Amino acid sequence: MSVLVYTETEDGKFKKAAFEVASYAKEVAGGDEVVAVSFNATDASELAKYGVSKVLNIQNDKLSKFNAEAYADALKQAAQKEGSKIVVVSQSANSKYLAPLLAVHLNAGYASNVMAAPESTDPFTVKRSAFTNKAFNFTKITTDVKIVGLSQNAFGLKENEGDASVEDFSPELKDGDFSVNVESVDKAKDKVTIADAEVVVSGGRGLKGPENWGMIEEMADILGAATACSKPVSDMGWRPHSEHVGQTGKPVASNLYIAVGISGAIQHLAGINAAKTKVVINNDPEAPFFKAADYGVVGDAFEIVPKLNEKLKEF
Ligand code: FAD
Repeated sequence: MSVLVYTETEDGKFKKAAFEVASYAKEVAGGDEVVAVSFNATDASELAKYGVSKVLNIQNDKLSKFNAEAYADALKQAAQKEGSKIVVVSQSANSKYLAPLLAVHLNAGYASNVMAAPESTDPFTVKRSAFTNKAFNFTKITTDVKIVGLSQNAFGLKENEGDASVEDFSPELKDGDFSVNVESVDKAKDKVTIADAEVVVSGGRGLKGPENWGMIEEMADILGAATACSKPVSDMGWRPHSEHVGQTGKPVASNLYIAVGISGAIQHLAGINAAKTKVVINNDPEAPFFKAADYGVVGDAFEIVPKLNEKLKEF
C-alpha cells in the first residue's frame, strides 16, 4: 500500500503546503511508501526531504495552470496505478475544488479541515475543525480509498532523510477534462501570500486611510510577513480584496497574526482563529479582540507601530 500526495506548485516551485502534506503522509504511511504527484515541478526531488520516496512527475504544458477536472483525472490515474488507499491534499483553495471531484472518481470518502495525524488507522479516524475552528469532531472514513484534506499549518513540516525516485508520468487526459478553464489573476506577485505566511500583519479601519499603510508594510517587510486587512478596509478600496481575511475572506493559519486597529468582530475572528499566536494593537481597551488575543497592546497604533518597527529592526 502507498499513500499518495498532491503536491502543489507555483511557477514550478513547490508551495509550503506541498511539503506539509508530504510530512503528514509520511506519518500516516508508517513503513509504507509515500508517492507524490507533481505538476510541472522544476525540481521534483526536493520532496525527498519530507518523506516522499517516489515522485510521479508530470511535465505537460496543458497542465501548467491549475485545472480541477484535469488534475483530479491525473491524480485518479496515479492513485489507481500505485494502488493508493489514502490520498492527502492540502486545504488550499485549489484542493477544496479538486478533492470532491477526486472523491467521486475514486469512490472515496473525503474528510476536509483535518487538524492532526489520524487518531486511529482502524477504523481510520481523523480530527477535523468545525464552526470556524471553535469546535472539532472526529470523523471515521470507512470507504476503501480515503481522502484527507489537511488544514494548512495544522501539522507543520517534518524533515526526513532519504532519496526519492523521480518517474515521468503521463496521464491520459480527455477533452472533457478541459471543459472549464479558470483564469487566475495574481496581483500579489513577489509578496508572501497569506496562505503560505508564517507571520501575517493586518490592518483595520483604525488606521484611518490607505495612506497610513506604510508602517504596516514596513513591519511586514521586517518580519517577512504577508499583509492582510479587515473587510471594511478592502470594501473601501484602501487595500486589495486579496488581503481581506475573515469569515467571508481568506482564512489565516499562520504562526503569528498581528492585528492593528481591528476591533475583533466575530466575522473577522472566524477567519483567524487558526492562527497560533494573536497579537492586537488597539486604543480601545474594550475592543473584543483583546478577549481573543494572546498578547495585547492598548494604545495608539500611530505611536506604537513605528516604535515597534524600530525595535524589530534590531533583531
Ligand atoms: P472597526 O470595527 O471600525 O474597528 C476599528 C478598530 O480600530 C476599533 O476597535 C478602534 O478602537 C481601533 N482604533 C481606532 N483608532 C485607533 C488607533 N489610532 N490605534 C489603534 N486602534 C485604533 N469583517 C472582516 O474583517 N472579515 C470578514 O470576513 C467579515 N465578514 C463579514 C460577514 C458578514 C455577513 C458581516 C455582516 C460582516 C462581516 N465583517 C467582516 C464585518 C465585521 O462585522 C466588522 O464590521 C469588521 O470586521 C470591522 O472592521 P475593523 O475592525 O477594521 O473596523
